[in-house]
Amino acid sequence: MSDEDATTVPAGDFGPPEDGLQRLWTPHRMVYIGGQDKPADGTVGQCPFCRIPAGDDEQGLVVARGAECYALLNLYPYNSGHLMVLPYRHVSDYVDLTDSETAELAAMTQTAVRTLGAVYSPAGYNIGMNQGEVAGAGIAAHLHQHVVPRWLGDANFLPVAGQTKALPELLADTRARLAAAWPSGAGSTSEGGR
Ligand SMILES: [Zn+2]
Repeated sequence: MSDEDATTVPAGDFGPPEDGLQRLWTPHRMVYIGGQDKPADGTVGQCPFCRIPAGDDEQGLVVARGAECYALLNLYPYNSGHLMVLPYRHVSDYVDLTDSETAELAAMTQTAVRTLGAVYSPAGYNIGMNQGEVAGAGIAAHLHQHVVPRWLGDANFLPVAGQTKALPELLADTRARLAAAWPSGAGSTSEGGR
């Protein structure tokens, strides 16, 4: 698609009056997988979120394992410490979670925020899920809740730098720090990390 084809309508035409603030909430960027290694289809056999729990925590960047849900680092993080909390079960729609899955997803999301707070002291968080590919889900077939720590000014250069983002800590180190800080009994990994 060329620029000539695009019809651009200024955001101010539909939104509230301009307030001069930059919009930092960019859910379309919160994908797990880029096009290069996106699953071929939505089946369990193609699903990395079904495959990862069978392997070891270091390899899969798993931070914590609960009874029905687990937490892992995003392989393509929006920020350092970008976690995802998701059910083991291959389910695409939030409304199709069981009551116990819903409860554990919520509890582990809270623990993720507490753990990130203890380790990284971020200034804020984006928490949420992109439901369906049209909403920006990289792996739409297996729902996952993003927990993204935010720091003041962390997205200032994104519109200029495009698809690249500086991430100051290696993922393996981030995983080890968060796994060690994750409280035991709140979906901690059996293999430890401490
Ligand atoms: Zn799956």
